[in-house]
Formats: sequence, C-alpha cells, structure tokens
Amino acid sequence: MNAVIDIRPAAAEGCADAPVLRERGQREVFCGLTGIIWLHRKIQDAFFLVVGSRTCAHLLQSAAGVMIFAEPRFATAIIDERDLAGLADANEELDRVVTRLLERRPDIRMLFLVGSCPSEVIKLDLSRAASRLSKAFSPGVRILNYSGSGIETTFTQGEDACLASLVPELPASPASAAASLMVVGALADVVEDQFRRLFSELGMGAVQFFPPRRSTELPAVGPNTRYLLAQPFLADTARALDERGAKRLPAPFPLGVEGTTLWLQAAAQAFGIDKRHFDQVVAPKRERAQRALARQRTELEGKSIFFFPDSQLELPLARFLSREMGMRLTEVGTPFLHRQHMADELALLPAGTVLSEGQDVERQLDRCREQQPDIVVCGLGLANPLESEGLTTKWAIELVFTPIHGYDQAADLAELFSRPLVRRMKLVA
Ligand code: SF4
Repeated sequence: MNAVIDIRPAAAEGCADAPVLRERGQREVFCGLTGIIWLHRKIQDAFFLVVGSRTCAHLLQSAAGVMIFAEPRFATAIIDERDLAGLADANEELDRVVTRLLERRPDIRMLFLVGSCPSEVIKLDLSRAASRLSKAFSPGVRILNYSGSGIETTFTQGEDACLASLVPELPASPASAAASLMVVGALADVVEDQFRRLFSELGMGAVQFFPPRRSTELPAVGPNTRYLLAQPFLADTARALDERGAKRLPAPFPLGVEGTTLWLQAAAQAFGIDKRHFDQVVAPKRERAQRALARQRTELEGKSIFFFPDSQLELPLARFLSREMGMRLTEVGTPFLHRQHMADELALLPAGTVLSEGQDVERQLDRCREQQPDIVVCGLGLANPLESEGLTTKWAIELVFTPIHGYDQAADLAELFSRPLVRRMKLVA
C-alpha cells in the first residue's frame, strides 16, 4: 500500500507537519531479540533466556559475533522441536531449564524470559510462567518476560519491550520527594559516565539512569520524576513511565553537538539551572566536539544519504548529518514515526525532506537506485546487494552497537559515515 508524497512548500520551516510516505509491505529488519546483545552487557547481573527455536539461537550467536564468554548471559531454550502433547509439557520443560540455570548461576539476580515467533512459543503464556517462577525463586531472583518476536518487534523494539517490562518493578518514589531526573535508554557505560559528570557539573543533583547497571539499583519513579529519552525507540517504556506519574522532557536526542546541547538544555531548564552557568559548563565541551567534527565535515559535506528504516535512530541521525555535516537527505525512512517523541527532531529537519514510515522493500530499493545516493544506511540483508551495484552502505546495526551519544562521541559518529565513503573512493581511485 502506498501513499502519495505531497510536495511541501519550500517556505515551510522544518518537517513538523511534513507528509510521510507510509508503506506496509515486506520488510527487511532484524527482530527484537537483537537487543539482547547490548542489554546483557548493560544490566550486568541479568540473564536473557530466549524461549525459541534454533533460528533464534543462530541469530543471537551471529549478531553477537565471535565473542567468547566465560559466563554467557544469554541463551536459547529450544522448544519448537519436540512433539508436545500439551502445554503442560512445555511449561514443565521451561521450569526445569530455569531451575537448572539458576542453580548453576547464583550470580543471576534478574532473568528475562524472551518470547519469539514459533507457534509453540506463542501458545506458551510466558507472563504466567514468569510470575510462577518469580514466586518460586523470590526474593533472590526477579523473573520477567517480554517479546522479542520478529512478528511483533523490530530490532530496537526489543529494548523497548524489555525496559517496559521493567517499569512496573521500579520502586515508587514518595510524593514528597524532590524532583529528580531519569535518563531512559541503554547507553554505553563510558557515555553514561560522561553524562553523569556533566549533570553533576551543571548542579543537577542525583541523576538516575534506566536501565541501571545492576538490577538491584532500579531507580525510583513517581510524579516528581522528569525523564529524558536517550534513545528514540522507547514508546512503550515512555508510556509505562507516564503511567507511573513521570513526565517526559521534550528534546531532540543527544546525537551530535547540537542534539546533545539541546538535550542537556531541556533538563537544565526543567531544573532551573542558570543559563550562564549552563553555557560555562557546556561551552568547552561543545567547542572541542565542534573542532573534531570540522575534520569529518570536509569528507561529508555535500554528499547525499538515503536511510532505509531499521533502528528508529534515522531521524536524529539525518538531522545531525544534514545540519552539522552538511549532507543532503534523499529519503529518511523509519520503521515507526512517533510524532510526539520526534517533534523536536522533525522541527529541525530541513523543509522538504522526504520521510517514509514502514517499508515496502522493493519499492524503496527502486527509489534508492533512482536517487543514486553517495551512502545508504540499511540492514545487513540489503547492504551486500547494494554494494555489488556500486552503492556505498553503512550497516544500521553498527550505529546501535557503537557509542555515538554525547559530545565526545560526535566525531566518532560522523566517522562512521565518512569511513565507508573514503574507503569507496580509494577503491574507485
Ligand atoms: Fe526467532 Fe522470530 Fe527472531 Fe527468527 S524472527 S530469530 S524465529 S524471534
């Protein structure tokens, strides 16, 4: 199904009300199980048990690369290959696997049962299994569940589903508690530490990060919680936090110098931080990052880029690359467009940007070929064929695995795009 793209008047500012091409066809995106790869590194005492098939196990292993863990913190319980007489068998089997795992690994404090696609798994009620097992292993281990199934989730939605399942577990902060800030979305530890230092220099008091590094450090939430989304793919988590009374601080996402500054500013304003003090704290970091970016800009300026929908990071990335790196946006695809969470990003995008939501992969490939962009951001499945046609690609998944948020990472983020372009030029030369 295809909508018609209206041409936006050139005079209009940004893309706040821009029309969006909505496509609902075949899509080429990883499923939500992929999120386990970065989540298991973030929550260090958690374990992710995928209830699934051999395909799920292979996906996890190949997405994790050749990492060798002495103590792996994810595994797949394969249940689609036995002739199940009834669901009781599957539940008993699951209980047995979980019991064995927790006996062997007393370091596990939180266990996620992660649902997947096979029909045998869909028939299992994993939320009942989680509450049954939680009772059995309480209070030492919390057992939760969410779905990473490719039918319900694309790859970054796995994190959203995981964090949304954690929100009801957060302790309640008393109504009399002072207002506090929560940063929501898994960030690399190094980035989290940088932001923590920045918030402390700004004088923001205790800032909590969700997810925490340990399941025993879950942040409290309540009507006095103000939260900043660090990742643009957390619609369900945000809804769950809103239901607990927390309030989202609208802001662009902290990608690039501009995004990071506006993101920090949203928090500083909400907490009454003096503007001069804010500028004093931020200016040296901003200037250093801008100097580092200037080198990358020479490689990227004037180059065109096409985004296939993958990670939901596409809009903030497009904003950064067009406004700070001078790139030309040919099409910016996103699997889902959350108008509220993206409002500040849309307003900053150049007027007339072609936006698309969802995918009809063949049609989108045709548009991409027609545009002949200098670089294409896409999933692994599309990258090889496009490279063989002479196009330069960037794997969307790398943008999720690499620390890219904040001032100190802005140049690294730009380099993720300039490197393949430079490599291609060398090949052609
Ligand atoms: Fe498993 Fe479904 Fe993901 Fe395939 S798409 S790996 S079956 S959850």
